[in-house]
Amino acid sequence: MEQHRKNALPEGQVRPVRNTTDEAAFFLKLLRNSHKTVVLTGAGVSVASGIPDFRSPDGLYSKVSPEVFELDFFLDNPAEYYKIAQERIHTMADRKPNPTHFLLSRLQREGMIGEIITQNIDGLQQRAGAKDVIELHGSVSSFSCMKCHRSYSKDELEKLFEESEVPWCNCSGLIKPDIVFFGETLPIEAINRAERAAIDSELFVAMGSSLVVYPAAQFPVIAKSSGAILAIVNRDSTGLDYMADNIFNVTLEEFSGEILALLDGGT
Ligand SMILES: [Zn+2]
Repeated sequence: MEQHRKNALPEGQVRPVRNTTDEAAFFLKLLRNSHKTVVLTGAGVSVASGIPDFRSPDGLYSKVSPEVFELDFFLDNPAEYYKIAQERIHTMADRKPNPTHFLLSRLQREGMIGEIITQNIDGLQQRAGAKDVIELHGSVSSFSCMKCHRSYSKDELEKLFEESEVPWCNCSGLIKPDIVFFGETLPIEAINRAERAAIDSELFVAMGSSLVVYPAAQFPVIAKSSGAILAIVNRDSTGLDYMADNIFNVTLEEFSGEILALLDGGT
């Protein structure tokens, strides 16, 4: 553990300036020293794809009332939900992955990281080629019938919208996006998988998450209490900085670009 990398400096001390290349090289070293690395990603990872954090001043909640994400609102007003969602919510799946998504997919392909647990619902990590992605809050890129559970793609849904403003299944069930609405139980299978991955990890990396929203914030704690090294990569301070072994206060896009460059250069 390198104490100087911690956030909490004694009063009056100035943090030494570190350049991003050094930070990137140190991060790669941590990855290479670990036999099992699990990554948790939050909203910060998708900001560079043009998806601001829901809670930021220009985020989704500044344009769409959080009420729209209540299960009861959806069930009572599916037409209104879908009208708003087609303009402002489901469109996030049409964005392009950014260097951080590509970095994580590449690290996974090269066997340097395992599961990617994500709080994001945009599906961009998978679009960048990642496989083992555990979505804690579901995804806006697929849909399911609430009655027979048949799965629908976004394209199939578009076709249904040509006939009706609410998509209905052949079985007459209402089709719902595969996101976890407020008032819905958390996806237990995803939670269990994430918990298992955290327990088994040697290195747990939290990227682009403020680590204050549950259930996401519990996984670094589980990993740490199971003996993992905890590394936090985020632009701002997080709710779990006090227990981190390594903190990288960086701009994610730039940091990821540096790591990709080091990998390309054979470093
Ligand atoms: Zn159905």
